[in-house]
Amino acid sequence: LATLYLARIAQSDLNAFLHVDQDLTLQQARAADQRLAQNNTTVLTGIPIAHKDIFVTRGWRSTAGSKMLANYVSPFDATVVDHFNNAGMVTLGKLNCDEFAMGSSNENSAFGAVKNPWDKTAIPGGSSGGSAAAIAARLTPAATATDTGGSIRQPASFCGVTGIKPTYGSASRFGMIAFASSLDQAGPIAQTAEDCALLLNAMTGFDPRDSTSLECPKEDFARDLNKDLKGLRIGIPKEYFGVGLASDVEQAIRAALAEYEKLGATLVDISLPKTELSIPVYYVIAPAEASSNLSRFDGVRYGHRAANYKDLADMYQKSRAEGFGEEVKRRILVGAYVLSHGYYDAYYLQAQKIRRLIAEDFQRALTGPDRICDVIMGPVAPTVAWDLGAKANDPVANYLADIYTLSSSLAGLPGMSIPCGFGQGEKNAKRPVGLQIIGSYFDEAKLLNVAHQYQ
Ligand code: GLN
Repeated sequence: LATLYLARIAQSDLNAFLHVDQDLTLQQARAADQRLAQNNTTVLTGIPIAHKDIFVTRGWRSTAGSKMLANYVSPFDATVVDHFNNAGMVTLGKLNCDEFAMGSSNENSAFGAVKNPWDKTAIPGGSSGGSAAAIAARLTPAATATDTGGSIRQPASFCGVTGIKPTYGSASRFGMIAFASSLDQAGPIAQTAEDCALLLNAMTGFDPRDSTSLECPKEDFARDLNKDLKGLRIGIPKEYFGVGLASDVEQAIRAALAEYEKLGATLVDISLPKTELSIPVYYVIAPAEASSNLSRFDGVRYGHRAANYKDLADMYQKSRAEGFGEEVKRRILVGAYVLSHGYYDAYYLQAQKIRRLIAEDFQRALTGPDRICDVIMGPVAPTVAWDLGAKANDPVANYLADIYTLSSSLAGLPGMSIPCGFGQGEKNAKRPVGLQIIGSYFDEAKLLNVAHQYQ
């Protein structure tokens, strides 16, 4: 298997992989063979996987898509990577992504954009564009990804594959290069909900090295895959179907909802009135946390250091000016501004208060004895994947396209994307559409059940 996938990767022109190391991969594959011979296997033993380059790995470089870390090799593995190694999975290499996971199109990677395998003139989505494209092109059967404001769901949607972001705190952030710590969450991208369930089983669990890791009993996320959906109440937020939603995407989503009705579910109209505010709130909170997290890249401890400088301050400035890309710098500036004295109350604190209200919107719909639905469904993004380059110089246009994924991230809820057909975009193209399924806290098994019944 490893040899087969390595050969496909070598032939691919998508730019999905940043680092491969055949020797390391085959070494792991031989170890998996040995485990097979010894009858010491898990369901994942010998199955290849590739990791978003935001997870640190011993052996393979870990760049986070940034020139800042272009030559960085970590002395340890991220907890998530550790879990997959222990299960006997075989690492194929590291996957391209937007720099420090900031972006929606993969065009912010210092190593060039990834192409969408369905249409090579289209973006794959971001920030986990390499993960989604690699699954869609069958370059790997499993991939890790991270989602801070949609980075698992949106590329999965644009590449026609399945991805799930579990409840915030379920998968360890240890060894996941930090972007916005109160939002960052790891999850799998694969072909099916069933594959995602098996990957999630290995991926999650309490980790004392992550201060926001949740202490939950181990559960089997595949346990409910075959339950029927009779009586399932699906909340349809009216804010997810308003102005701005492209008609080709709406059509595909409505068709999927009709399928769910045939499977025994009922559709309930709901309202998430604070949806619109999720964009300004997220783009205050995420840059604020990023500006703090990225202060560690100072040219001293690790990462890029400028070749010539006068003194320490000059070295900091030059190293950061050379190492970070445009979008990362923009967010550091915004973040430092909203956290600064005099502006903190007006922006950061205000955003935190609205974040709470956004979470309450979901709670009214999904939790408590009066809850009106079991899951929420809608589009992942307002349009299908756009053309490479189309919004590359327009950060706000990228931010606006995150409208349907940001609020559940701010609330810390689990969410997933499953393929549900195709749209045409602005030209007569064929580009995948993803259906988003959002659940209450710890409802991953239900989301995967709901996805699996459709698939
Ligand atoms: N597109 C969003 C951003 O640019 C989300 C990215 C993510 O989830 N990592 O911040």
